[in-house]
Amino acid sequence: MKIIDLITKETKSLSFEVFPPKPGTQFESVRTAVEEIARLKPLFMSVTYGAGGGTSNYTLDIAKGIKEKYGVPTLAHLTCVSSSKDTVRRKIAEIKAAGLQNVMALRGDIPPEMESSDRSGWDYKYAIDLIAELKENEPDLCIGCACYPEVHPESINQREDIRYLKEKVDAGCDFITTQMFFDNNLLYNFLYKIRESGITVPVIPGIMPITNANQVDRAVKLSGSFMPQRFKSLVDKFGTDPAAMKQAGIAYATDQIIDLYANGITNVHVYSMNKPDVAEKIQSNLSDILGK
Ligand code: FAD
Repeated sequence: MKIIDLITKETKSLSFEVFPPKPGTQFESVRTAVEEIARLKPLFMSVTYGAGGGTSNYTLDIAKGIKEKYGVPTLAHLTCVSSSKDTVRRKIAEIKAAGLQNVMALRGDIPPEMESSDRSGWDYKYAIDLIAELKENEPDLCIGCACYPEVHPESINQREDIRYLKEKVDAGCDFITTQMFFDNNLLYNFLYKIRESGITVPVIPGIMPITNANQVDRAVKLSGSFMPQRFKSLVDKFGTDPAAMKQAGIAYATDQIIDLYANGITNVHVYSMNKPDVAEKIQSNLSDILGK
C-alpha cells in the first residue's frame, strides 16, 4: 500500500520508525523488537538506512519481513550521497523485487572523508538527484523526503532550506517527514512557511520520545533541536532515575502528539528506535483518541 493513499485528513494514526542492527548487534534481537512494534498495527513502519554501508544491508530484509508477516505497509529509507549510481540502482531494483511501494529518498550525511573532495565528481550531491532518478525510472513508487522545521544544519537560512524542499517536492515527492522537534510551535511556524511557499503535499511530523538522559545530547547534536525549558526541567529532575525519566519522556512525547492532533495533524511518525515498550505505551496513552 502506498503511504500517500494511507494518510487521510480524517483518521488519526501513528507510524513507527525502526533501524537495522548496528555492527556487532544480534539481528535476532532487532527482529524481535521490530516484530513487537509491527503487532501494534501502525499506519506504516519506516526502516532506516545506514549511510556509508554497514547496517544498510538489512533495511530491505526488515521492511519486507514486516510487510509480509504483519501486513503493515513499510517505508524503506535510501541514502545516496556516499553511493555510486550502480549501487543505488541495484538497491532500487531490490526494493522493487521485494514488492515494496514506498521509499524515503535521502541524501544522507556527508562522510568526513568526502567533505573535502571535489563534489563535481559525485554521482549524487543532494536528495533531489535521487528523487529525480526514482521518478524517472520507477514512477509507480511512492516517494517521501525529509524536512527540517529548525533548518538543516548545513543551510544558510530557512528560506534557502524551504526553497530546496520545494524543489524536492516538485521533483516528485509525495509526502514529507520532519526531523524531530520538542516545541510544537516551531512545527506550526514551519508549516505556515512551507504552505506559503506553495508546498501542498502531506507533512508527517516526527516525534522522538526521549526515554533516558543520555539520549538528550545525542538528539540535540544530531538534529540541532531546541530544548524548551519545560523539557530541560524534566531531564534535570528525572535524568538520574531511569524509570522516572522513561515515564516522563513518554508523557512528554504523548503530550506533543495530542497537541498535534488537536491542531489538525492526522498522522504522527514516532522515532520509536526499536523500543516496543515505548511504542506500545505511547499508543495505549492515545487509545481513545486513536480508537485502538
Ligand atoms: P538534502 O535534501 O539533499 O539537503 C541537504 C542540505 O543541502 C540541506 O541543507 C539543503 O537545504 C541543501 N540542499 C538541498 N538541495 C540543494 C541544492 N539543489 N543546492 C544546494 N543546496 C541544496 N540519514 C541516514 O543516513 N539514514 C536514514 O535512514 C535517515 N533517515 C532520515 C529520516 C528523516 C525523516 C530525516 C529528517 C533525516 C534522516 N536522515 C537519515 C538524516 C539525513 O540523511 C541527513 O539529515 C542529511 O544530512 C540530509 O539529508 P536530506 O535528504 O534532507 O538532504
